[in-house]
Amino acid sequence: MNKQVLFKSRPEGLPTEATFEFIETPEARPRDGEISRRTIYLSVDPAMRGRMNRGKSYVAPMEPGQLMVGSTVSQVIESKHPDYKAGDFIFGSDGWQTHAVGDTKGLRKLDPKQAPISYSLGVLGLPGLTAYVALLDIGKPKPGETVVISAAAGAVGSIAGQIARIKGCHAVGIAGSDEKCDFVTRELRLDACVNYRKQDLVAALKAACPNGVDVYFDNVGGPVLEAVLKIINRSARIPLVGLISQYNEAKLPPGPNLGSILVNRAMIQGMIVFDHFHRMPDFLRDVSQWLRSGEIKAPEDIIEGLDNAPSALIGLFRGENVGKRIVQISEDPTR
Ligand code: NDP
Repeated sequence: MNKQVLFKSRPEGLPTEATFEFIETPEARPRDGEISRRTIYLSVDPAMRGRMNRGKSYVAPMEPGQLMVGSTVSQVIESKHPDYKAGDFIFGSDGWQTHAVGDTKGLRKLDPKQAPISYSLGVLGLPGLTAYVALLDIGKPKPGETVVISAAAGAVGSIAGQIARIKGCHAVGIAGSDEKCDFVTRELRLDACVNYRKQDLVAALKAACPNGVDVYFDNVGGPVLEAVLKIINRSARIPLVGLISQYNEAKLPPGPNLGSILVNRAMIQGMIVFDHFHRMPDFLRDVSQWLRSGEIKAPEDIIEGLDNAPSALIGLFRGENVGKRIVQISEDPTR
């Protein structure tokens, strides 16, 4: 049987278990041109919360009753397509289910000898590309400048911070616990990290950034953005990558004082990773090299079992994860 998780009803605020419905359907066989596969890894991403809302965004909303969407790493079980054979590993968008069958549109083969196959959901996938493009193309960090990254222990933030360090910047993370801050400074080797839940954020940021902030890589918006704006430098750049602090708010809180952006000639630029696929070759070349040389670590936070996918997603909004959160659906024979 194929176990699936459907999007059941639009949540108010934080999704709950009632947002999801588990069903089982008979496993189908592939027809000509199709392949069947079993899901090994499922990516859970904050953007899934946006897709639960009605209304237009940069991707279409999910409709109640449809399969939960999501990027996946799978292994081919049976192939009726000349380019694929049983045992191949593939990246795709099969969503929240243990098995899938269909054509090969949008699938990409993965070579487990090049990198762990799960990396295609994190450091070598959309979170990594987002970090690379938003930091280098929008943030344009120069050696010696101060770069601050929020959600610094997460999927995007952990890579952005390490690239800032590689580029010779004074790299400062912001994260939601002392354990995460320890991880950011010891494992990811950023220069400093501020726990925004515990410390007087502006005072702690001033201490960690004695020369002010030249690049603020914003994953969260809200009060953290407001605090960073108080010490932003003239001509600073602010890649606005995510606003996770608002994703579960029914009513938006009063916004930060964007006047500081004006006075300091800083630039905020909206960034959606889908516009930047032309940067994929450069991104894969550089980040693969940094992975091989050990300059970049790829933290992963793997939760076992499709049954735990709803709580894995909800946990992103509680800050449970360090690194790229992935749901493991079945055995990974390459590990
Ligand atoms: P993460 O792995 O960073 O997980 C989410 C983290 O956000 C949590 O661990 C938590 O860390 C932090 N967080 C949760 N709630 C809040 C809150 N209320 N205030 C501040 N921080 C909070 O997720 P991703 O790396 O996948 O995504 C990070 C951001 O980047 C998201 O906003 C996402 O939407 C965005 N994004 C944008 C893309 C684009 O194309 N523009 C593409 C991919 C991601 P902590 O404990 O430190 O608070």
